[in-house]
Amino acid sequence: MTTLSEMAESCTDCGDDLEIGQIGKCDECQDAGEPQKLHYFIAYQWSAEHGSGFACMDISRTHPITDFAEVEGLCKFIAEYKNFQTVVITNWKRYEEG
Ligand SMILES: [Zn+2]
Repeated sequence: MTTLSEMAESCTDCGDDLEIGQIGKCDECQDAGEPQKLHYFIAYQWSAEHGSGFACMDISRTHPITDFAEVEGLCKFIAEYKNFQTVVITNWKRYEEG
């Protein structure tokens, strides 16, 4: 005879007992596993065949901007996305935690 407590699985992350029938991770650990999106305000200068100017946009990422290579990557992304020849990011600001 197996008792209910012996049947209960424990969370693979924190080891807490799971609810009957639940396997893998507890609710809390499942929520924590969701990649948190970071929101950035990006200001940039652009040029294209039809002109040039300043603009800004809002992006969300799963990883923070940590080095120059990522800024360059963002410039390239915006240029391709907006069909600009060059994009230079002049400033960015991560939104405060809500
Ligand atoms: Zn857990």
